[in-house]
Amino acid sequence: MFESLSERLEGAFKQLKGEGRISEINIATTVKEIRRALVDADVNYKIAKDFTDRVKDKALGEKVLTAISPGQLMVKIVKDELVELMGSTESELDIKTNPTVILIAGLQGSGKTTFSGKLANFLKSKKNKKPLLVAADIYRPAAIDQLKVLGGQVGVEVYSEPENKNAVEIAENAIKHAKAQGNNIVIIDTAGRLAVDEVMMTEVSNVKKAVNPQEILFVVDSMTGQDAVNTAKAFNERLNFSGIVLTKLDGDTRGGAALTITYTVQKPIKFVSMGEKLDTLDVFYPERMAQRILG
Ligand code: GDP
Repeated sequence: MFESLSERLEGAFKQLKGEGRISEINIATTVKEIRRALVDADVNYKIAKDFTDRVKDKALGEKVLTAISPGQLMVKIVKDELVELMGSTESELDIKTNPTVILIAGLQGSGKTTFSGKLANFLKSKKNKKPLLVAADIYRPAAIDQLKVLGGQVGVEVYSEPENKNAVEIAENAIKHAKAQGNNIVIIDTAGRLAVDEVMMTEVSNVKKAVNPQEILFVVDSMTGQDAVNTAKAFNERLNFSGIVLTKLDGDTRGGAALTITYTVQKPIKFVSMGEKLDTLDVFYPERMAQRILG
């Protein structure tokens, strides 16, 4: 396991104190240490650098040089800054419209379908809603079956048209169906590819144009680390999504992807997913994530 950032900083400052006094040069060294720790936690290098430049300015402003426990003060500055970057935006779902349409997008294997099931369960059991799940993956018949299994587990109807190869039509028909059946939430699970490609992007943006969703959630695997930046950028450019879902946080990742992605696209993380069980969906708490990144 990595040494935590808190431990590293305490260690670094203890050494400096031994040398008699803490100077601006020492702060610069410590800031480098923070940058290394962030990169170890999977934060993109450039973002880690921007971030630590801000921390450095703050540290000098907040008199770390003369603090009694500079290590602790430094950790506090880093943590506050992380929280501010990840949590300054309102991250509640906008579910007032009837029906509310929620589009789920992301790469194949990111956890989209599992998340769709979890979200349906969350909205049904915690928000008293009547969701409809929509299987709009026209390439993988197995994806329809998977969603049906999940829907069955949480007691939510799944709309699909196995013979139809037009995702836009499926989505439009599903909304008609929802209106007729009295579903007040429509969750559309779209197709994903192993990498961003033009066909997929065109298809999902066509679905967006046709159904005009209140929420577009970009699902990303927290284990993908550095790659996540480019994927998030590509999806955001085409979809201008409203929020991020960070999956597989039950793994041993330190969660740096959270910082990297929100920082890059300036969108809030709305949910985190921490396992395959359908009740392991959590709203996002910036404080907890900051702590996780700090170790
Ligand atoms: P999709 O292709 O984006 O729809 O991805 P899936 O929902 O099929 O998920 C891909 C794999 O990741 C499946 O084996 C899921 O069981 C697993 N998975 C999804 N979410 C999580 C999670 O939060 N934690 C863990 N450990 N596994 C997950």
